[in-house]
Amino acid sequence: VAGLTPGATIGILGGGQLGRMLAMAAARLGFATIIFDPDISAPAAQTASRHIAAPYTDLEALAQFAKACDVITYEFENIPLEAARHLSGLKPVHPPVAALESSQDRLVEKRFINSLGIATAPFFEINGAQDLQAALASAGGRGIVKTRRMGYDGKGQALVESPAAAAQAWDELGAHPLILEGFVDFALEISVIASRGADGSFRAYEPAMNRHGSGILRMSIVPAPLPGEVMADAVAMAQRIVTALGYVGVIGIEFFVTRDNALMVNEIAPRVHNSGHWTEAACAISQFEQHIRAVSGLPLGQTTRHSDCVMENLIGDDVEKVPGILLEGDAVLHLYGKAEARPGRKMGHVTRLFPRAGEVDPQ
Ligand code: AMP
Repeated sequence: VAGLTPGATIGILGGGQLGRMLAMAAARLGFATIIFDPDISAPAAQTASRHIAAPYTDLEALAQFAKACDVITYEFENIPLEAARHLSGLKPVHPPVAALESSQDRLVEKRFINSLGIATAPFFEINGAQDLQAALASAGGRGIVKTRRMGYDGKGQALVESPAAAAQAWDELGAHPLILEGFVDFALEISVIASRGADGSFRAYEPAMNRHGSGILRMSIVPAPLPGEVMADAVAMAQRIVTALGYVGVIGIEFFVTRDNALMVNEIAPRVHNSGHWTEAACAISQFEQHIRAVSGLPLGQTTRHSDCVMENLIGDDVEKVPGILLEGDAVLHLYGKAEARPGRKMGHVTRLFPRAGEVDPQ
């Protein structure tokens, strides 16, 4: 099947900063975009061609959206499955609904990863206060309770290191289906931003090392300080995952790297990913363009990078650093157009390339 041609329309479910950056990449390739997001002030509405502000449960609005689109994608994984299924009966939806299904529930996700022979943190299904105490003991007395669904940026999680803390976590989170993950004393965290085309072609960016604070990504550093074999293993695991899902699009896969360089998948996100924002500055083809290429049936771009780099998220009050960042002259700044800088809110990011402009030897 030939890919979409300029003038075609790409529908994007979700209107956050990821949708915003996808819309910008789509525009560069000559496509129009329609954002579907109930929030009238969705950041992506500022860069898209059109915005439909309706609930994800509004089948009528979804049908109108589908009618106006040539292909539909999404920028966050917590859209209701029924909405995605409804749309996929009307127009092509990429990535596949199966990827949404396994990434929406941490238990289903971990079972799926393990079924491919890929390790995860040890995990336990929790259906009662007793389950939690037993699981904590099996996990060696230290673990993280997580809601199975709707968790992001460390929300819906509690570190538990004693039976009393487990009882308290149950009181706070027990109304939701839960899992307990054994605590992984990892050396570092990495992520692979991979892509698969409609023709089955596969390309991955080099793994980035990620630093989190309070469960939120703070920084991605490329290259990651890891042996080449470990990086190649992570990419090979990413390829197994996207192949098993019959995936089309960009995916973000987060890994823990243990002290003896073993890899465990922490989480998969069936979309462009915050830890791939560096590709916008350090690669000719960013993760956003790559995703648009994949879902449009166009050839995937190269994933090689031309620079080392560090991407830093601007969270909440970090936006006050913007005037200084602009003065640096060669820092690649990207702001998301959000009016209010609430604590923990991702306001933008900045990528610094190395060597920096002033350090380049003109010879
Ligand atoms: P998540 O929302 O599952 O990606 O968790 C957010 C962050 O919490 C991760 O990036 C890790 O830094 C930390 N974390 C999550 N699960 C574990 C675990 N099982 N062991 C140790 N740290 C974890």
